[in-house]
Amino acid sequence: MRAPVHKFFSYYKPYLSLFITVLACSFITSFVTLVFPLLVRYITKDVLEGDLSTALGEVYWVGGLMLVLVAIQNISNYFVDYRGHEIGARMESDMRSELFAHMQKLPLSFYDKEKTGRLMSRITNDLLLLSELYHHGPEDYMKYLVRFVGAFTILFFINAPLTIAVFCFLPFLGLLALYFNKMLNKAINKNKERIGDVNAQVEDSLSGIRDVKSFANESVEIGKFNKENARFLESRKHTYKAEALFYNSFETIIQLITITVVIFGSASIVVNTTLDLSDLITFLLYISFMIEPIQRLNHMSTQLQEGVTGFQRFMEIMNLKPSIENSSNAIILPEIQGEIEFRQVSFCYEEHLDSVLQNLSLRIKPGEYVALVGPSGAGKTTLCSLIPRFYDAIDGEIFIDGINVRNIDLESLRKQIGFVLQDVFLFAGTVMENIRYGDQAASDEEIIAAAKHANAHDFIMNLPNGYDSEIGQRGVKLSGGQKQRLSIARVFLKNPPILILDEATSALDNESEKIIKSSLELLAKGRTTIIIAHRLSTIRHAGRILVLTEDGIVEQGTHDALLARDGVYANLYAKQF
Ligand code: ADP
Ligand code: MG
Repeated sequence: MRAPVHKFFSYYKPYLSLFITVLACSFITSFVTLVFPLLVRYITKDVLEGDLSTALGEVYWVGGLMLVLVAIQNISNYFVDYRGHEIGARMESDMRSELFAHMQKLPLSFYDKEKTGRLMSRITNDLLLLSELYHHGPEDYMKYLVRFVGAFTILFFINAPLTIAVFCFLPFLGLLALYFNKMLNKAINKNKERIGDVNAQVEDSLSGIRDVKSFANESVEIGKFNKENARFLESRKHTYKAEALFYNSFETIIQLITITVVIFGSASIVVNTTLDLSDLITFLLYISFMIEPIQRLNHMSTQLQEGVTGFQRFMEIMNLKPSIENSSNAIILPEIQGEIEFRQVSFCYEEHLDSVLQNLSLRIKPGEYVALVGPSGAGKTTLCSLIPRFYDAIDGEIFIDGINVRNIDLESLRKQIGFVLQDVFLFAGTVMENIRYGDQAASDEEIIAAAKHANAHDFIMNLPNGYDSEIGQRGVKLSGGQKQRLSIARVFLKNPPILILDEATSALDNESEKIIKSSLELLAKGRTTIIIAHRLSTIRHAGRILVLTEDGIVEQGTHDALLARDGVYANLYAKQF
């Protein structure tokens, strides 16, 4: 527990002097607010009941003092409002950067398990709640503590018995606040859940709108939606009821306190002279100072809870260690030949899952063009993911040019390997920026050359803004084949000695496949290439074909040799033709 507490406060460190200034201003603001009723008392009691010949001068004097205090109070409160929020926002921004950087380093196995939506809410909502706590927490505690202690002390000196009488009401208020806090939180959480359900229903119905219409099931969807909508309404009614009950019970007790003070105060003015009229007025002015902190207990404890939960969720991710990291003496790869070797490699995705690869050994010579075929789910993609260490083998070793990949600096390892996959991901931005993803230092000319190699130049020039056309939501929509050509241009630019083509043409129509095949052949020239393909016609010219099944690599050889063997490959081939 100590380490997280230390970590929680460590984010104040860069802003410590500013933070202390804000706290001091918060103190000044509260202190000045406390002085006002005292000045009213001074005027009504000492000035107006004293020597009236000098009274006017004194009234002006006190008035002047009040103006100065108002200025001090509001200037320091401006500082608290502005700079205090700024500190919170800065801390939040620091944490967000730290969290994002950390997420970038987490291995793929983390993203296999986590939903992107949930991760996004960590980066936004959770940290927002935390920043509220970071600055409002200390400020509010300071403010209410000063007011409460100050008001109590002043009242006690004015009239101890009446102060103690008022004080006796406070525990009831406190208990009431705590009781309702629980109830309100429950109601508010239920609201959040219900609005979540409404959103989920909208998303479901709208994303499936084609099916809704083709089955003419609009009324079914409307029915489902109205049910969720009604449930949300019900929970809101519940919340409002709880809120109304809370605020009005509270108000009742406050009014009871006021009545007590008025009645007993007036009575004691009549019966004896321990209290006078100005004392009574002062009393009434100060009561709210004692009650407000208790009224705010509810809000403050919610703020604390939400902030602490936000911090725990933040730490949950920060505590995950990037399991795939550079070893302490990682080697930066020099220019390599491109030899790949698997020695007795075993792999499974998670401890309890079946192993995907078992004792697999394999050697690919520099510049070799090797095809990997086999039934879907055999582990072809998995095998290729181990080379750049997207995942680490459970057992056995993988070497590039004779160096164990675990001893190679990750960045320099991944620079050696280019992937062309079935699903292409393009980032928001222009065509130019997307190709430059292959090499951030590339010049425009190099990018255009890469696009030409990838057979992409012509269609890019036909886009409304050529290389500056925006891609994605608000930009041009590209066909599958066009996207694939951009991803190939990217790899041309990267120029890696090892190339992995994983079902790169599987999703394409015959026409695009032809164009892309020719640019892939050009890309493969001079590189060690592993090609995975479902359509065996795509790989029949490969120098060597490896057949991977759940029993490992069961056959290898050229297309003709494997057909002659009449085994698994021949069987797969016969099915396709
Ligand atoms: P192939 O590429 O030969 O079709 P894969 O390498 O994609 O096969 O998958 C091999 C096995 O590993 C399959 O049983 C698949 O369900 C499983 N698998 C693939 N990716 C993951 C993952 N990220 N997490 C857990 N299991 C996975
Ligand atoms: Mg695959």
